[in-house]
Amino acid sequence: MKIAIASGKGGTGKTTLSTNLSVLLSETERVVLTDLDVEEPNSGLFIKGDLKSEEIKYKMIPEWKEDTCTLCGECQKNCNFHAVIQLGPQIMVFPELCHSCFACSELCPTNSLPMQAQRMGTIKEYQYRQMAFVESCLDIGQEQAVPLIGQTNEYVNQKFDEDYIMIFDAPPGTSCPVIEATKDVDYVILVTEPTPFGLHDLKLAVETMKELKKDYGVVINRYGLGNDDVIDYCKEENVTVLAKIPNSRKVAEIYSKGKLIYNEIPEIKEQFLKLKEFILTRKKEFVQ
Ligand code: SF4
Ligand code: SF4
Repeated sequence: MKIAIASGKGGTGKTTLSTNLSVLLSETERVVLTDLDVEEPNSGLFIKGDLKSEEIKYKMIPEWKEDTCTLCGECQKNCNFHAVIQLGPQIMVFPELCHSCFACSELCPTNSLPMQAQRMGTIKEYQYRQMAFVESCLDIGQEQAVPLIGQTNEYVNQKFDEDYIMIFDAPPGTSCPVIEATKDVDYVILVTEPTPFGLHDLKLAVETMKELKKDYGVVINRYGLGNDDVIDYCKEENVTVLAKIPNSRKVAEIYSKGKLIYNEIPEIKEQFLKLKEFILTRKKEFVQ
C-alpha cells in the first residue's frame, strides 16, 4: 500500500507526520519511508539510520553537434519548455529548463542533438530500527525535481515488495513535483493547519486531488491554534478528517532537538494511533 503525505504549502508539519507515523507503523509492520521532497529533504533530520546504499542519478539532456546542424530551427519549435533556442548561428541548450522529453533530439533531421546523461542527484537508502528509509536529494544548482522523483519511485518499487507499507513524504505545493509524487499512490494524507493560510492552501490541495481522482483525507496539525474554518470546510466538502494533532509548545521543543514526538505526549500518541488504525484497516481492504 502506498500513501503520500502532502500539503498545499510548506511548514504545516508534513515531515513530522511522515516520520512519526512511519516509525510508529514500523513497530508492527514492514515500512519504507521515502523522502520525495528532493529540493529540501529533511526527514533525515529525524531519522538517523545506517547508510546501506547510495546511487548517483542522471537525467538525459541534449548536446548540440555544431558540425552536422543545418540551423533549420526545428528543435526550438519542438521544445515546449524553451530549453533549446536558436541564437543566430548557434543552438543553445538550457539544461535547467529541460524536461528530458527527447522531442528535440528525436525530431532533429540531422541527429545533431544526441541525448547525454547529466548528473542530477542522489538516492540514499538507510536502515532505521526495523524501517527502511530512502532519501532522494537534488544536486545544488539542479532545478528539475520531477525526473529525480520519478527515478526514486522506480527505485522504491523495484526494491520493496507489496508487503511493505510505503510512505512518501511529498514535496509541498500543488505543482508538477507533487503531482509526480502522488500520481501512483493509493491514498493521500493532506496535512494542514487551522489558519487562513492553511485553509487557502488546503483548498488548492483538495482541488488537485480531485483532478487526480485520488482518495484522500486530512490531518489537522497544531489543532487549537487558530479557528474552526478548516473543520467547517472539511464538513462542507465531505472531506474526512483523519486526525487532529494538538498544538503544543512541547512539540516545538522536541522537534527543535530533532526528535520524534509520537511517544512523548499522550494526546499526540492517541492521534497517531488513530491514524495507524485507519491505515491498517485500509491496508486490509486493499489486500482483499
Ligand atoms: S533541429 Fe537539428 S539541425 Fe535543426 S537546428 Fe536543431 S539541431 Fe540543428
Ligand atoms: S529534451 Fe525536451 S525539454 Fe529538453 S530541450 Fe529537448 S525538447 Fe526541450
